[in-house]
Amino acid sequence: MSDFEGVSVLVTGGSRGIGLAISKAFAERGAKVTMMDILADHADEAMAATGHPDRCRFVAGDVSDADSASAAIDAAVEHGGGLDVLVNNAGITRDTLLMRMKDADWDQVMGVNLKGTFLMTKAASRRLMKSPRGRLINIASVVGMTGNAGQANYAASKAGVVGFTKSIAKELAGRGVTANAVAPGFIQTDMTAELPEGAAERLMSLIPMSRLGTVEDVAEVVVFLASPQAGYVTGQVIPVDGGMVM
Ligand code: NAP
Repeated sequence: MSDFEGVSVLVTGGSRGIGLAISKAFAERGAKVTMMDILADHADEAMAATGHPDRCRFVAGDVSDADSASAAIDAAVEHGGGLDVLVNNAGITRDTLLMRMKDADWDQVMGVNLKGTFLMTKAASRRLMKSPRGRLINIASVVGMTGNAGQANYAASKAGVVGFTKSIAKELAGRGVTANAVAPGFIQTDMTAELPEGAAERLMSLIPMSRLGTVEDVAEVVVFLASPQAGYVTGQVIPVDGGMVM
């Protein structure tokens, strides 16, 4: 449990859903966690929910904005005395069929999911290289591998995250930084709370393990990838999906 004592971790979208579970999992193991989110209204509640508010700091900012990204990295460095682990988790959906998809639906999803991952990683890269165990973990999606009707923007952004992750893995391997992606399947969060009628049953039939994923299922794999035990794992995409995509 003390593997992360004093380790500095920044989690984007870190105060809700999967991001909050990731923040909590690191804080429980002794890490100094900076949680970045676009809205600050639930900051205190989110830090309390980790069980270790003293180890957490909240920073408001938009990952798709370069100045916000730099400011968040600076805040994490100040809070944690450096930066060892960046988890690019912030993500949005604007689902609709291609014929109805507005340019703004495309641009917003690409801006947060893909450009945000690029901006945060770029701003963090020097700090990660200075760390004795620099780790980049990007949250992709199985949809980035399989595609999904009604999610052309989201699937393209997540496929982009996979290509980005593998490229950074190659660029930073020589500097001792690993870069991996976690691809959740269908996880119970606000993002998936509202499904069209019958969709949940249809989805369940596609999951060999016959249950939706929990935020903890994803968080534990992220923690493993950030651990010393995963020091020789880089450029990989790890599905956490109950066997949906094999
Ligand atoms: P969620 O509950 O909707 O939470 C998303 C988080 O991202 C929120 O904390 C939100 O902040 C933050 N965020 C949104 N836009 C942002 C921006 N521009 N800058 C900074 N933070 C921003 O989503 P989730 O289900 O936990 O998903 C987390 C990640 O997992 C996403 O990348 C998602 O694509 C991926 N994923 C989820 C599932 C699933 O089944 N849930 C499946 C595959 C992949 P506010 O609270 O301030 O709005």
